[in-house]
Amino acid sequence: MKAVERDADDPLALYREQFDLPEKVIYLDGNSLGALPKTVAAVLSRTIEQEWGVDLIRSWNQHDWINLPTQVGEKLAPVLGAATGQVICTDSTSVNLFKLMAAAIQFQKPRKVVMSQRDNFPTDLYMAQGLQDLAGTGRIEHKTVAADQIVDALDEQVALLHLTQVNFRDGQVHDIKALTRRAHDVGALVLWDLSHSAGVLPLQLDDWEVDLAVGCGYKYLNGGPGAPAYLFVRRDLQAQLHQPLAGWMGHQTPFSFDPNYVPAGGMQRFLAGTPSVLAMKALDTALDIYQGLDVQLIRDKSKRLTQFFVDLTTDIPGIMLASPSDPDVRGSQVSLQHPAAYSVMQALIERGVIGDFREPDLMRFGFAPLYNSFSEVQEAAEQLREIIQTGFYQEPRFQVRQQVT
Ligand SMILES: *Cc1c(COP(=O)(O)O)cnc(C)c1O
Repeated sequence: MKAVERDADDPLALYREQFDLPEKVIYLDGNSLGALPKTVAAVLSRTIEQEWGVDLIRSWNQHDWINLPTQVGEKLAPVLGAATGQVICTDSTSVNLFKLMAAAIQFQKPRKVVMSQRDNFPTDLYMAQGLQDLAGTGRIEHKTVAADQIVDALDEQVALLHLTQVNFRDGQVHDIKALTRRAHDVGALVLWDLSHSAGVLPLQLDDWEVDLAVGCGYKYLNGGPGAPAYLFVRRDLQAQLHQPLAGWMGHQTPFSFDPNYVPAGGMQRFLAGTPSVLAMKALDTALDIYQGLDVQLIRDKSKRLTQFFVDLTTDIPGIMLASPSDPDVRGSQVSLQHPAAYSVMQALIERGVIGDFREPDLMRFGFAPLYNSFSEVQEAAEQLREIIQTGFYQEPRFQVRQQVT
């Protein structure tokens, strides 16, 4: 089927109108920074001019700023397959990982093994390493194994298994349900990082009996650069977990200014400080797009988009597919290997096809089914072919490394 026919046949095609995207740009990096929803700018200027500028401190009550973390968490919960009262929006993914890992380890004493996958996203590994250093010798043992060793490595020493559902490099998808069950069989808790999943993969955190989860607001959820992250804690665990960043917003009664910390009931105890109101309003507004939208439709289109791109690119000389060839275990991205991947990506970006580069030799293309079309996929694939076949990427300007790749 041709690209235009696929577009005509696309039940999500109309969603593109909800985003501001520059003309002549094919944006295949929504897995790193989601596009700007058209509604966000107006909400932010109203928040700045009226709520901040005029209503000032009164806005914490009048405009309910104080409940934004809960409100945004509740809006996100259906996208994660979580019932009410289990998701809150706060901090960054890194900080949320720290809070939940620390709480889980404390809860699981005397177990001390925290297990992950060797090529998990670095921040996930670093936060565990930092926690291990903080805890002191012998208290926490952070262990990492290859993806295919996870099941075998699970034993009754493991306090917590923390994994990312979609691998950031190659897009390989883990089976959350199966791995969660295996972890529970040995008495371990699970912490899933959903940064590359939420908004593109159908999630059923409740049905899969997931204990803990975190994820980013700025990727497929389109919350804007550095958008606040979220965390999920299974309802019956909430009262038993104590996170160490005991800030006043996590206190039972922040405005009693009690000198002693008493954690709030429910999800509030996972907050630390004051919410970043402007950033959270952007995410709150962006999430409206997901209201009433069936994530399965997004997943179906995502698989077709990635497969179309794979079909059009993997015969290009020098290109190797680094992502799984089976779309069922591939996230909403395609990673292609090429010896000059960095330069080829720079050449693509100059031509308006924006993806990114990951060390040592991967070009990463993210497909956001709410705004990417099959015609764009085709155009991107043609540009890639031409840039490689003509050697255009060898021009000196494409060899200079930038700080963010
Ligand atoms: C993007 C991403 C993060 C980012 O964490 P921040 O604290 O927001 O910088 C963390 N984990 C994974 C798996 C990611 O993909």
